[in-house]
Amino acid sequence: MAKYDNCKILSPDGSFLGYCNQRRLDMYIKKNLGSLVEDKTVQLNYEPKIRDLDDFTRKMNNPYYFEPLKSQCVVCSSSNHLIFFHLIPKDYRKWFPENKKTHNNKDVMLLCEKCHQYYGYYLNKLRDDFLRVYNIKLDQNLKTVRNYAKKLLLHEFNENHRYFAKITEHLGHKPSHEDLEKLSNLSPYIGINECSSPCEYIVKRYISKDKITDFEEIWRNYFVEVMEPKFLPEGWVETK
Ligand SMILES: [Zn+2]
Repeated sequence: MAKYDNCKILSPDGSFLGYCNQRRLDMYIKKNLGSLVEDKTVQLNYEPKIRDLDDFTRKMNNPYYFEPLKSQCVVCSSSNHLIFFHLIPKDYRKWFPENKKTHNNKDVMLLCEKCHQYYGYYLNKLRDDFLRVYNIKLDQNLKTVRNYAKKLLLHEFNENHRYFAKITEHLGHKPSHEDLEKLSNLSPYIGINECSSPCEYIVKRYISKDKITDFEEIWRNYFVEVMEPKFLPEGWVETK
């Protein structure tokens, strides 16, 4: 079950720098960057570079960064069957600018299985809304062709199989291995130019207008509006 590790990171003089997960703590120890001073607490043996002191001070004034996070569902406070849920789906996030791809703890929420399932329906609605706004359409025929090409690459089929017939009809000739590979990587969406997926297309539109922060806010606000979470970590709303 997913939970927060809330491991502490201390500077060489013993002052608190923030929380991390067990994996990161283990990494500090393994790389000899610090030592375990008590359970779940690592004291670094070097002064970490804080690139932006103002940003660090602002964070340390926000309880979100210095209070341990509770391992409970942010919507209903249940502690059963918790899942780490990404407010901005990974297939969108992967197209973000480098500096925004990682360290987005703010967008990782703990949800119980029930709330997670409930939100799934609304999440798909938001995904569909984006497609509608950007006039992106799914080409069912292309989708079928792509899926058949994938299956043909994965399994041995008789050349008389209907998958072959369908692809032959689509191409106007019998497919070569290369044809199948090309088709299997095809996006079945229309209206995304040269992009590999609607997610890439939409994110790039936001980046080109320098509005990626607005895009992030849409997903966060939507989650808050739909789910009305009553147990968000203190200070979460103020974090940027
Ligand atoms: Zn819940």
